[in-house]
Amino acid sequence: MQHPLNGGVRLVSPMARLFYSVFGRTNPRGWADYHCAPERRGTLWVHCHGPAKRGGANLEFVGVPKELRAAALQLMFALVAQMRGGRKLRADEDFAAPLSSRQQSFMQIGTLRVAAWSDRHHKGMLRVVDYGEPLQSGFPFRLFGSHIVARAMCADTPERKAALCRRSLEIFAGDFTDPGDGIGADGGDADLTELQNKCNILAYTGLADALCEQNRHNDACGIIVDAIARCPAWARGYRDRLLTSGEPENQYTRFWRDADIADIVLRRRPAEGAAPAARPAPAARGGAGFGNRPKDPYDELLRRG
Ligand SMILES: [Zn+2]
Repeated sequence: MQHPLNGGVRLVSPMARLFYSVFGRTNPRGWADYHCAPERRGTLWVHCHGPAKRGGANLEFVGVPKELRAAALQLMFALVAQMRGGRKLRADEDFAAPLSSRQQSFMQIGTLRVAAWSDRHHKGMLRVVDYGEPLQSGFPFRLFGSHIVARAMCADTPERKAALCRRSLEIFAGDFTDPGDGIGADGGDADLTELQNKCNILAYTGLADALCEQNRHNDACGIIVDAIARCPAWARGYRDRLLTSGEPENQYTRFWRDADIADIVLRRRPAEGAAPAARPAPAARGGAGFGNRPKDPYDELLRRG
């Protein structure tokens, strides 16, 4: 796969790269050559050259909406940093790491697949896709959604936090988990699907928190209904903690006290059979159903973009 090589595609010029390699060794711009090449559909093919020469892997994201270019590069830097730290990234293997912020309280996960490029510059490149997804799945919606959530947790105003959480949920609204599945703590043997769901639930609770901070309790309750429907096992535990935390009574805490979780699940989850299959069955995801991934996510995202 050929692409033009100009100032619009290269993140840094060869001269700047040389500068970083001597004077800016901690700057990720000097660790590899990053290319953001336009794709036919108006999206970007964001990839890097260089790590493969040093025992790592050249990585790529495909189908990146233009407004997520910076996010793609931030994630790419973090993955290259992982390899520089000694982590091996291999084809058909999963990864789990905190990639987006030093303060984030969750791991981000994904899977690597060998791209089919045959030209010598891009041959053997590993495509970053969502956890368990095939090569053809393209743009990793969940991973980018989790990146925006991590950024939201560092936002300096509730308005900014709310906007970022909403953006994350636009990119990926979340899965409907098995009713008995919670969202496990990060750890060596944690279930990766549970970790993934944790990012998504954080987008909902982060948005609800930010709305409460703006005294928009009613809006917060509306948001949290969607989170409860997706992960009722989490909701039960969260309610217990919230109601014993000494939070002052307000519309939001009253909502949680009175919420009939079973009823919300009944009303807001897709009918039996339409829900995504149990993990990890990527091909079954993305079907019809409330809030599920749209059938053609590119079109949906680009319409918004
Ligand atoms: Zn390239």
